[in-house]
Amino acid sequence: MIPLVDLGAQHDRIKSELAAAIDEVFASRAFIQGRHVAEFERAFLRLHEVPHGVGCSNGTAALFLALAGLSVGPGDEVIVPAHTFIACGEAVRHVGARPVFADVDADTQCLDPAGLARARTPRTRAVLAVHLYGNPCDLDAIGAFAAEHGLLVIEDAAQAHLARYRGRPVGGFGDAATFSFYPGKNLGACGDAGFVMTRDPELRARMAKLLDHGREEKYRHDVVGYNFRMDGLQAAILLAKLRHLEAWTEARRRHVAHYDRLLAPAGFSSPRATGGADPVHHLYVVQVSNRDAVQRHLTENGIASGVHYPIPLHLQPAFADLGGRPGDLPVAERLAGRILSLPLYAELDPAQVERVAATFLEVARP
Ligand SMILES: *Cc1c(COP(=O)(O)O)cnc(C)c1O
Repeated sequence: MIPLVDLGAQHDRIKSELAAAIDEVFASRAFIQGRHVAEFERAFLRLHEVPHGVGCSNGTAALFLALAGLSVGPGDEVIVPAHTFIACGEAVRHVGARPVFADVDADTQCLDPAGLARARTPRTRAVLAVHLYGNPCDLDAIGAFAAEHGLLVIEDAAQAHLARYRGRPVGGFGDAATFSFYPGKNLGACGDAGFVMTRDPELRARMAKLLDHGREEKYRHDVVGYNFRMDGLQAAILLAKLRHLEAWTEARRRHVAHYDRLLAPAGFSSPRATGGADPVHHLYVVQVSNRDAVQRHLTENGIASGVHYPIPLHLQPAFADLGGRPGDLPVAERLAGRILSLPLYAELDPAQVERVAATFLEVARP
Protein backbone atom coordinates (compact mmCIF):
# COMPACT_ATOMS: atom_id res chain seq x y z
CA MET A 1 0.00 0.00 0.00
CA ILE A 2 1.32 3.47 -0.89
CA PRO A 3 -0.46 6.09 1.26
CA LEU A 4 -0.92 9.75 0.34
CA VAL A 5 1.36 10.74 3.23
CA ASP A 6 3.37 8.30 5.38
CA LEU A 7 3.93 9.78 8.82
CA GLY A 8 4.97 6.36 10.14
CA ALA A 9 7.90 6.25 7.72
CA GLN A 10 8.92 9.77 8.76
CA HIS A 11 8.68 9.10 12.49
CA ASP A 12 10.45 5.70 12.34
CA ARG A 13 13.54 7.35 10.88
CA ILE A 14 13.81 9.94 13.68
CA LYS A 15 12.31 7.95 16.56
CA SER A 16 15.13 8.58 19.02
CA GLU A 17 15.17 12.33 18.31
CA LEU A 18 11.43 12.55 18.91
CA ALA A 19 11.66 10.48 22.10
CA ALA A 20 14.42 12.74 23.44
CA ALA A 21 12.36 15.84 22.63
CA ILE A 22 9.31 14.45 24.44
CA ASP A 23 11.39 13.38 27.47
CA GLU A 24 12.73 16.91 27.77
CA VAL A 25 9.23 18.39 27.93
CA PHE A 26 8.20 15.91 30.60
CA ALA A 27 11.35 16.71 32.60
CA SER A 28 10.74 20.47 32.38
CA ARG A 29 6.92 20.22 32.66
CA ALA A 30 6.69 23.17 30.25
CA PHE A 31 3.49 21.80 28.75
CA ILE A 32 1.85 25.08 27.74
CA GLN A 33 3.99 27.70 25.99
CA GLY A 34 7.28 27.77 27.96
CA ARG A 35 10.83 27.37 26.79
CA HIS A 36 10.37 24.79 24.01
CA VAL A 37 7.78 27.02 22.39
CA ALA A 38 10.10 30.03 22.70
CA GLU A 39 12.99 28.06 21.23
CA PHE A 40 10.89 26.81 18.32
CA GLU A 41 9.60 30.33 17.66
CA ARG A 42 13.16 31.66 17.39
CA ALA A 43 14.29 28.84 15.10
CA PHE A 44 11.26 29.01 12.81
CA LEU A 45 11.49 32.80 12.52
CA ARG A 46 15.22 32.65 11.76
CA LEU A 47 14.61 30.24 8.86
CA HIS A 48 11.93 32.54 7.44
CA GLU A 49 13.99 35.71 8.01
CA VAL A 50 11.09 37.43 9.78
CA PRO A 51 11.74 39.14 13.15
CA HIS A 52 8.51 38.60 15.11
CA GLY A 53 6.06 35.77 15.55
CA VAL A 54 4.23 33.54 17.92
CA GLY A 55 3.36 29.86 18.01
CA CYS A 56 -0.33 29.06 18.37
CA SER A 57 -2.78 26.19 18.48
CA ASN A 58 -3.36 25.60 14.73
CA GLY A 59 -3.31 27.25 11.32
CA THR A 60 -6.93 28.37 11.47
CA ALA A 61 -6.30 30.15 14.79
CA ALA A 62 -3.22 31.73 13.18
CA LEU A 63 -5.39 33.18 10.39
CA PHE A 64 -7.90 34.42 12.98
CA LEU A 65 -5.12 36.05 15.04
CA ALA A 66 -3.63 37.79 11.98
CA LEU A 67 -7.02 39.19 10.94
CA ALA A 68 -8.06 40.17 14.48
CA GLY A 69 -4.62 41.60 15.24
CA LEU A 70 -4.92 43.79 12.14
CA SER A 71 -8.42 44.89 13.27
CA VAL A 72 -10.23 43.31 10.34
CA GLY A 73 -13.81 42.86 11.50
CA PRO A 74 -17.49 43.57 10.95
CA GLY A 75 -18.18 45.70 7.86
CA ASP A 76 -14.90 44.64 6.22
CA GLU A 77 -14.40 42.41 3.22
CA VAL A 78 -11.42 40.13 2.60
CA ILE A 79 -10.56 38.75 -0.85
CA VAL A 80 -9.99 34.99 -0.59
CA PRO A 81 -9.17 32.54 -3.40
CA ALA A 82 -12.05 30.11 -4.03
CA HIS A 83 -9.63 27.23 -4.66
CA THR A 84 -8.20 26.55 -1.16
CA PHE A 85 -8.95 24.90 2.18
CA ILE A 86 -12.10 25.98 4.04
CA ALA A 87 -10.13 27.57 6.92
CA CYS A 88 -9.33 30.59 4.72
CA GLY A 89 -13.01 31.50 4.55
CA GLU A 90 -13.80 30.42 8.11
CA ALA A 91 -11.23 32.71 9.72
CA VAL A 92 -12.61 35.74 7.88
CA ARG A 93 -16.07 34.82 9.16
CA HIS A 94 -14.77 34.31 12.71
CA VAL A 95 -13.65 37.95 12.94
CA GLY A 96 -17.06 39.06 11.63
CA ALA A 97 -15.84 40.11 8.19
CA ARG A 98 -17.11 38.96 4.79
CA PRO A 99 -15.04 36.72 2.52
CA VAL A 100 -15.24 37.71 -1.14
CA PHE A 101 -14.14 34.73 -3.19
CA ALA A 102 -11.96 35.31 -6.24
CA ASP A 103 -10.84 33.03 -9.05
CA VAL A 104 -7.43 31.44 -9.44
CA ASP A 105 -4.98 31.24 -12.31
CA ALA A 106 -5.45 28.06 -14.39
CA ASP A 107 -1.71 27.37 -14.55
CA THR A 108 -0.45 28.17 -11.03
CA GLN A 109 -3.81 27.45 -9.32
CA CYS A 110 -3.09 30.39 -6.99
CA LEU A 111 -5.05 33.65 -6.68
CA ASP A 112 -5.27 35.30 -10.12
CA PRO A 113 -4.13 38.94 -9.74
CA ALA A 114 -6.34 39.80 -12.75
CA GLY A 115 -9.43 38.91 -10.70
CA LEU A 116 -8.63 41.20 -7.76
CA ALA A 117 -10.11 44.33 -9.34
CA ARG A 118 -13.43 42.53 -9.88
CA ALA A 119 -13.52 41.34 -6.24
CA ARG A 120 -12.64 44.73 -4.71
CA THR A 121 -15.31 47.05 -3.27
CA PRO A 122 -15.03 50.14 -1.05
CA ARG A 123 -15.27 47.75 1.93
CA THR A 124 -12.28 45.61 0.98
CA ARG A 125 -9.64 45.65 3.74
CA ALA A 126 -7.34 42.75 2.97
CA VAL A 127 -6.24 40.06 0.52
CA LEU A 128 -5.56 36.52 1.72
CA ALA A 129 -2.57 35.43 -0.36
CA VAL A 130 -2.61 31.62 -0.18
CA HIS A 131 0.53 29.76 -1.28
CA LEU A 132 -1.45 26.75 -2.47
CA TYR A 133 0.28 23.36 -2.57
CA GLY A 134 3.50 25.12 -1.48
CA ASN A 135 3.63 27.30 -4.61
CA PRO A 136 4.04 30.97 -3.61
CA CYS A 137 1.31 33.08 -5.21
CA ASP A 138 2.09 36.16 -7.32
CA LEU A 139 3.22 38.34 -4.40
CA ASP A 140 4.52 41.14 -6.65
CA ALA A 141 1.18 41.65 -8.40
CA ILE A 142 -0.87 41.15 -5.23
CA GLY A 143 1.41 43.49 -3.27
CA ALA A 144 1.19 46.17 -5.98
CA PHE A 145 -2.62 45.91 -6.05
CA ALA A 146 -2.78 46.10 -2.25
CA ALA A 147 -0.45 49.12 -2.14
CA GLU A 148 -2.48 50.92 -4.81
CA HIS A 149 -5.73 50.46 -2.89
CA GLY A 150 -4.44 50.62 0.70
CA LEU A 151 -5.19 46.97 1.48
CA LEU A 152 -3.54 44.59 3.92
CA VAL A 153 -1.94 41.37 2.67
CA ILE A 154 -2.00 38.24 4.81
CA GLU A 155 0.02 35.29 3.51
CA ASP A 156 -1.42 31.86 4.21
CA ALA A 157 1.71 29.71 4.15
CA ALA A 158 0.07 26.66 5.78
CA GLN A 159 1.35 24.54 2.88
CA ALA A 160 4.50 26.49 2.12
CA HIS A 161 7.11 26.21 4.91
CA LEU A 162 10.48 27.37 3.48
CA ALA A 163 9.08 28.18 0.03
CA ARG A 164 10.81 31.17 -1.57
CA TYR A 165 9.73 34.04 -3.77
CA ARG A 166 12.33 36.13 -5.58
CA GLY A 167 14.96 34.44 -3.42
CA ARG A 168 13.37 35.28 -0.06
CA PRO A 169 11.36 32.91 2.15
CA VAL A 170 7.60 33.38 2.20
CA GLY A 171 6.26 34.85 5.42
CA GLY A 172 7.94 38.25 5.13
CA PHE A 173 6.01 39.69 2.19
CA GLY A 174 2.62 40.38 3.75
CA ASP A 175 1.55 42.37 6.84
CA ALA A 176 1.36 38.98 8.55
CA ALA A 177 1.83 35.36 7.51
CA THR A 178 0.34 32.20 8.94
CA PHE A 179 1.47 28.57 9.03
CA SER A 180 -0.12 25.27 10.01
CA PHE A 181 1.69 22.29 11.53
CA TYR A 182 -1.20 19.88 11.06
CA PRO A 183 0.49 16.45 11.01
CA GLY A 184 0.29 16.03 7.22
CA LYS A 185 1.78 19.45 6.38
CA ASN A 186 5.39 19.72 5.15
CA LEU A 187 6.37 20.41 8.77
CA GLY A 188 3.84 18.60 10.93
CA ALA A 189 3.34 18.30 14.68
CA CYS A 190 2.01 15.16 16.38
CA GLY A 191 -1.26 16.97 16.98
CA ASP A 192 -2.41 20.49 16.12
CA ALA A 193 -0.14 23.57 16.03
CA GLY A 194 0.23 26.79 14.07
CA PHE A 195 2.25 29.98 13.73
CA VAL A 196 1.79 33.61 12.83
CA MET A 197 4.67 35.97 11.94
CA THR A 198 5.07 39.66 11.13
CA ARG A 199 7.64 42.43 10.75
CA ASP A 200 5.60 44.61 13.12
CA PRO A 201 6.46 44.10 16.82
CA GLU A 202 3.23 45.79 17.95
CA LEU A 203 1.12 43.44 15.86
CA ARG A 204 3.05 40.54 17.36
CA ALA A 205 2.28 41.82 20.85
CA ARG A 206 -1.45 42.17 20.08
CA MET A 207 -1.62 38.65 18.67
CA ALA A 208 0.37 37.14 21.56
CA LYS A 209 -2.02 38.80 24.01
CA LEU A 210 -5.16 37.69 22.17
CA LEU A 211 -4.06 34.06 22.02
CA ASP A 212 -3.45 33.86 25.78
CA HIS A 213 -6.62 35.20 27.42
CA GLY A 214 -5.84 38.83 26.61
CA ARG A 215 -3.03 39.04 29.12
CA GLU A 216 0.64 39.83 29.55
CA GLU A 217 0.57 39.43 33.34
CA LYS A 218 -0.83 36.28 34.89
CA TYR A 219 -4.16 37.59 36.24
CA ARG A 220 -4.51 40.97 34.59
CA HIS A 221 -6.56 40.68 31.38
CA ASP A 222 -6.38 43.78 29.16
CA VAL A 223 -8.76 42.55 26.46
CA VAL A 224 -11.17 39.65 26.07
CA GLY A 225 -8.91 37.04 24.56
CA TYR A 226 -8.87 33.39 23.55
CA ASN A 227 -6.96 30.25 24.32
CA PHE A 228 -5.01 29.58 21.12
CA ARG A 229 -1.67 28.70 22.79
CA MET A 230 0.92 26.28 21.42
CA ASP A 231 1.82 23.41 23.70
CA GLY A 232 5.33 22.43 24.69
CA LEU A 233 5.20 18.86 23.38
CA GLN A 234 4.29 20.04 19.90
CA ALA A 235 7.00 22.72 19.98
CA ALA A 236 9.69 20.22 21.04
CA ILE A 237 8.59 17.76 18.33
CA LEU A 238 8.54 20.54 15.72
CA LEU A 239 11.99 21.70 16.79
CA ALA A 240 13.33 18.15 16.29
CA LYS A 241 11.64 17.86 12.88
CA LEU A 242 12.71 21.35 11.78
CA ARG A 243 16.31 20.12 11.48
CA HIS A 244 15.18 17.77 8.70
CA LEU A 245 12.84 20.09 6.85
CA GLU A 246 15.33 21.27 4.23
CA ALA A 247 16.28 17.67 3.33
CA TRP A 248 12.62 16.59 3.26
CA THR A 249 11.82 19.51 0.97
CA GLU A 250 14.64 18.53 -1.39
CA ALA A 251 13.29 14.97 -1.48
CA ARG A 252 9.81 16.31 -2.35
CA ARG A 253 11.34 18.31 -5.19
CA ARG A 254 13.08 15.22 -6.56
CA HIS A 255 9.87 13.17 -6.46
CA VAL A 256 7.90 15.95 -8.18
CA ALA A 257 10.51 16.24 -10.95
CA HIS A 258 10.38 12.45 -11.32
CA TYR A 259 6.54 12.42 -11.53
CA ASP A 260 6.64 15.28 -14.05
CA ARG A 261 9.14 13.43 -16.25
CA LEU A 262 6.93 10.35 -16.26
CA LEU A 263 3.55 12.06 -16.69
CA ALA A 264 4.19 15.14 -18.84
CA PRO A 265 4.86 13.19 -22.06
CA ALA A 266 1.34 11.71 -21.73
CA GLY A 267 -0.15 15.20 -21.51
CA PHE A 268 -0.62 15.57 -17.73
CA SER A 269 0.46 18.71 -15.95
CA SER A 270 1.03 19.72 -12.34
CA PRO A 271 0.63 23.39 -11.36
CA ARG A 272 3.22 25.69 -12.92
CA ALA A 273 5.47 27.52 -10.45
CA THR A 274 4.60 31.21 -10.15
CA GLY A 275 7.24 33.39 -11.84
CA GLY A 276 10.09 33.96 -9.36
CA ALA A 277 8.88 31.23 -6.97
CA ASP A 278 10.65 28.18 -5.54
CA PRO A 279 7.73 25.94 -4.48
CA VAL A 280 8.04 23.30 -1.74
CA HIS A 281 5.36 20.95 -3.13
CA HIS A 282 3.00 20.17 -0.28
CA LEU A 283 0.97 18.06 -2.72
CA TYR A 284 1.50 16.59 -6.17
CA VAL A 285 -1.64 17.52 -8.07
CA VAL A 286 -2.46 16.46 -11.63
CA GLN A 287 -5.56 17.05 -13.71
CA VAL A 288 -7.62 14.28 -15.25
CA SER A 289 -10.95 14.16 -17.07
CA ASN A 290 -11.95 10.73 -15.63
CA ARG A 291 -11.14 11.15 -11.94
CA ASP A 292 -13.51 8.57 -10.45
CA ALA A 293 -12.16 5.81 -12.69
CA VAL A 294 -8.56 6.78 -11.94
CA GLN A 295 -9.14 6.83 -8.18
CA ARG A 296 -10.87 3.43 -8.34
CA HIS A 297 -8.01 1.96 -10.33
CA LEU A 298 -5.40 3.38 -7.97
CA THR A 299 -7.27 2.06 -4.91
CA GLU A 300 -7.57 -1.40 -6.48
CA ASN A 301 -3.81 -1.35 -6.90
CA GLY A 302 -3.04 -0.27 -3.34
CA ILE A 303 -2.33 3.39 -4.10
CA ALA A 304 -4.03 6.19 -2.18
CA SER A 305 -5.09 9.44 -3.81
CA GLY A 306 -6.99 12.55 -2.76
CA VAL A 307 -8.78 15.64 -4.00
CA HIS A 308 -7.64 18.99 -2.62
CA TYR A 309 -10.28 20.39 -2.82
CA PRO A 310 -13.46 19.05 -4.42
CA ILE A 311 -15.77 22.02 -3.70
CA PRO A 312 -14.65 25.63 -4.28
CA LEU A 313 -15.30 27.88 -1.30
CA HIS A 314 -17.98 30.00 -3.02
CA LEU A 315 -20.06 26.82 -3.51
CA GLN A 316 -19.60 25.41 0.02
CA PRO A 317 -22.88 25.03 1.93
CA ALA A 318 -21.24 26.84 4.87
CA PHE A 319 -21.01 30.00 2.72
CA ALA A 320 -24.38 29.64 0.95
CA ASP A 321 -25.61 32.88 2.52
CA LEU A 322 -22.95 34.79 0.56
CA GLY A 323 -24.84 33.96 -2.65
CA GLY A 324 -22.13 32.17 -4.67
CA ARG A 325 -23.44 30.34 -7.75
CA PRO A 326 -22.04 27.76 -10.17
CA GLY A 327 -20.40 29.62 -13.03
CA ASP A 328 -19.22 32.55 -10.88
CA LEU A 329 -15.58 31.42 -10.73
CA PRO A 330 -15.04 29.15 -13.72
CA VAL A 331 -11.35 28.33 -13.27
CA ALA A 332 -11.76 27.22 -9.65
CA GLU A 333 -14.86 25.21 -10.58
CA ARG A 334 -13.16 23.47 -13.50
CA LEU A 335 -10.12 22.60 -11.35
CA ALA A 336 -12.33 21.20 -8.58
CA GLY A 337 -13.70 18.66 -11.04
CA ARG A 338 -10.33 17.62 -12.47
CA ILE A 339 -7.64 17.73 -9.78
CA LEU A 340 -6.18 14.60 -8.22
CA SER A 341 -3.44 14.41 -5.58
CA LEU A 342 -0.98 11.51 -5.87
CA PRO A 343 1.19 10.19 -2.99
CA LEU A 344 3.96 12.65 -2.09
CA TYR A 345 6.27 12.56 0.92
CA ALA A 346 10.01 12.64 1.44
CA GLU A 347 10.36 8.92 2.26
CA LEU A 348 8.91 7.71 -1.07
CA ASP A 349 11.47 5.85 -3.10
CA PRO A 350 11.85 6.29 -6.87
CA ALA A 351 10.45 2.81 -7.54
CA GLN A 352 7.25 3.78 -5.72
CA VAL A 353 6.94 6.97 -7.78
CA GLU A 354 7.34 4.83 -10.91
CA ARG A 355 4.69 2.38 -9.72
CA VAL A 356 2.22 5.20 -8.97
CA ALA A 357 2.87 6.84 -12.33
CA ALA A 358 2.58 3.59 -14.30
CA THR A 359 -0.67 2.62 -12.55
CA PHE A 360 -2.06 6.13 -13.07
CA LEU A 361 -1.19 6.08 -16.78
CA GLU A 362 -3.06 2.79 -17.29
CA VAL A 363 -6.41 4.61 -17.05
CA ALA A 364 -5.97 8.38 -16.70
CA ARG A 365 -7.09 10.70 -19.48
CA PRO A 366 -5.95 14.34 -19.62
C1 LIG B 1 -4.13 23.32 6.71
C2 LIG B 1 -4.51 24.64 6.20
C3 LIG B 1 -5.07 25.63 7.04
C4 LIG B 1 -5.55 25.35 8.43
O1 LIG B 1 -4.62 24.82 9.28
P1 LIG B 1 -5.08 23.96 10.56
O2 LIG B 1 -3.81 23.84 11.32
O3 LIG B 1 -5.60 22.68 10.06
O4 LIG B 1 -6.10 24.74 11.29
C5 LIG B 1 -5.28 26.90 6.52
N1 LIG B 1 -4.99 27.18 5.25
C6 LIG B 1 -4.49 26.25 4.40
C7 LIG B 1 -4.18 26.66 3.00
C8 LIG B 1 -4.25 24.95 4.85
O5 LIG B 1 -3.77 24.05 4.00
